[in-house]
Amino acid sequence: MKILLHRIARGISGLIFVIGLLWGCARPHSDQLQRSSQTKVLMGTYVTVDVCYSREDARVLLDAYNEVWARVQELQEIMSLYEPRSEISRINGSYPDAVPVGHELYQVLDSSIRISELTRGAFDITVFPLVHLWRESGRAKRLPSKMEISQAQDRTGMRFIELLEDQRVRLLKPGMSLDLGGIAKGYAVDEAARVLRSRGFKDFFIDAGGDLYLGGQSCQGTPWRIGIRNPARKDQIIDIVEVRNQAVTTSGSYEQYVEIGGRNYSHIIDPRTGFPQEGVVSATVIAPITYEADALATALCVLSQQEGIELIESMGESYGALLIVSDSRVDHLKLVPSLKYQEHRLPKF
Ligand code: AMP
Ligand code: MG
Repeated sequence: MKILLHRIARGISGLIFVIGLLWGCARPHSDQLQRSSQTKVLMGTYVTVDVCYSREDARVLLDAYNEVWARVQELQEIMSLYEPRSEISRINGSYPDAVPVGHELYQVLDSSIRISELTRGAFDITVFPLVHLWRESGRAKRLPSKMEISQAQDRTGMRFIELLEDQRVRLLKPGMSLDLGGIAKGYAVDEAARVLRSRGFKDFFIDAGGDLYLGGQSCQGTPWRIGIRNPARKDQIIDIVEVRNQAVTTSGSYEQYVEIGGRNYSHIIDPRTGFPQEGVVSATVIAPITYEADALATALCVLSQQEGIELIESMGESYGALLIVSDSRVDHLKLVPSLKYQEHRLPKF
């Protein structure tokens, strides 16, 4: 079932999307705002920024876009594991020394530790040795041995990250590598939103590869409407949420996985077992801050369905989640802003 699901799902370009834009929205009335859209490849994905603006703001808008792109580029250069000169790469090669870092990275590391605690270890930015092992095993088309998994696991553990005074960071084990793949895009989206607001734009949406933030309302003056697709049938929308000043992010095994021996293995690792997560096909999280939504969506793929639901329920009124699980039966949605829980039942795949 799961294999079939992933095969079908392979071509899906995104599980969540802003509805009016893809389906053609009504032309704005003259007193309504215009919509501008720009897309760039950054942080390993397509980043799209749509802004609602009035004619008088047209020049400020160009400056705002330039600042947004410069900021996201800057964050990529700080947080990418694949840029040898990034701050994160400097930390990764620094054992046993402490490394001074900028305030953004320090803040993201601090938040990662907090979210790791909140998710009882499911969110874990030290899993890279395991991510790498499974990726290489996928290339070689053979399962990693128990020994390889336990050796990689020995190089992980959130408690081996030490945040020191004066924005310094120290890794406490040799061979560790920090990977912000589960949170950095969300942080970049929050920064882009901050830049747009600082330039006076309130109504916009930002999408960094499935990590969305919806500012204010649509250019038609209605709430942003987000469609969530069925991962198995991209023409089918399983839910629509209306949001305002909220992030909506999706993680899952439906798009990124490695195939070994006819089975698909998720790119998200369960740090407790050293194996790729299974069970949750996709997790969509609604939260006030994108980096939180990003990290929580990754964690909800690792946690059991029950644990995930309990976590979101414990988190206050502006948090919600929709899980699609591989038995394709039980899903859970806390709608924003009505904040009602609804049971969702997917059609049989
Ligand atoms: P996302 O697409 O936000 O769910 O992030 C997935 C990426 O986060 C993976 O490609 C890995 O780089 C990294 N990752 C994998 N497993 C975990 C985990 N348990 N906690 C945090 N990050 C992870
Ligand atoms: Mg994430």
